[in-house]
Amino acid sequence: MIQSSQEPSPVLKRGLNLKFTSVYGLAMNFSDFPDSVTNKRLRTIAKKVYESTPVSKSDAKYMLTTNDILDLGKISDFVRTRLHGDVAYYGVNMNLNFTNICELRCPLCAFSRDEGDKDAFVLSLDQIEARVQDAVTSGIDEVHIVGGLNPKLSIDYFEQMIRRIKKIKPDIFVVAFTAVEIDYFAKKAKTSANKTLERLMEAGVGAMPGGGAEIFSPHIRNIIAPAKISGKRWLQIMRSAHELGLKTNVTMLYNHKEAVEDIVDHLARIRKLQDETHGFKTFVPLLFHGENTKIEARRNTSTGYDDIRIYATSRVFLHNVLHLKALWMYLSDKMAQILLKFGVDDFAATYQNEKVVHAAGAKTPDYGSESFLKRLIENAGLEPVRTTANYWIQ
Ligand code: SF4
Repeated sequence: MIQSSQEPSPVLKRGLNLKFTSVYGLAMNFSDFPDSVTNKRLRTIAKKVYESTPVSKSDAKYMLTTNDILDLGKISDFVRTRLHGDVAYYGVNMNLNFTNICELRCPLCAFSRDEGDKDAFVLSLDQIEARVQDAVTSGIDEVHIVGGLNPKLSIDYFEQMIRRIKKIKPDIFVVAFTAVEIDYFAKKAKTSANKTLERLMEAGVGAMPGGGAEIFSPHIRNIIAPAKISGKRWLQIMRSAHELGLKTNVTMLYNHKEAVEDIVDHLARIRKLQDETHGFKTFVPLLFHGENTKIEARRNTSTGYDDIRIYATSRVFLHNVLHLKALWMYLSDKMAQILLKFGVDDFAATYQNEKVVHAAGAKTPDYGSESFLKRLIENAGLEPVRTTANYWIQ
């Protein structure tokens, strides 16, 4: 069953009739919810949420700086439960990074290489087919594809890549190519982003990942990824994808040079476009890992409170984006599990062969089994539901 990004599926609708269970595990009726929040300022936010009134930028700023994380948890868990009941999603997929050669060499990136570097690589279509075949044999439902901006690869390579993957397993779900890649492919082929997207959709791309959004504020973007397309252009490409019917994720990279205002600005721009296109299905905050990059982050790593504030605030502020995903490989499995009570409904996936965040020093394993993901979700008191990036329920 395919679910639109705006309407809860019948399974999710169960959640609308459930009693709300607070972060403390106390069952309460929905109507008791705002008054259960003890912090006065957060209680006004809870009232807005209860009445389905979008919260303001200043509310977001307050949530991003409060230490009252248990009250913040009540609000974000209320939103999560109202949308998704007691379900949390996970996927069984593989990562496919077809090349690490990239023209841009963004300071934030530990994954990219120049052509000629000893560990630079490009996978041939035969190698890609063999890898996907192996992963299909092991039972994946989805392939997640991103790579560097390699001038030697043409749009024909990407079209053939997708067609060969779909030939192996016609119902495999293909999530492929960030807005940054689409812009690059289009410029190289001297065509429009729309035409490029149409060709790739025709070949079998089912959704777009949300990478490359980083942080939209130009003064920060110019430090961490100066050669990358602007935030404005990134959003334009996403608008084009949405208008063609292609659903996408949207990310936000945090814990580098950004200030609270930059995070609020990023969230507000997403919410605005979503009001117009309804094409974002999932918001994915990405915790920056700085090892092997050229960015000296303000801190080595985020604190637990930082992660909680970012996720809970996103869940509350982005009322019009249905899903919030925690990438356990970026956060650690323990923190990702805790975030299931702070707004997260999507526990990401197995990500066989993840390379990007591990190049930047992530200490998590580069693969999580299905039983590992299910255990973490069940142990948080939720029902694990296997799905793909399109949220079909299996
Ligand atoms: S972040 Fe993406 S565009 Fe930038 S250097 Fe790395 S692979 Fe290339």
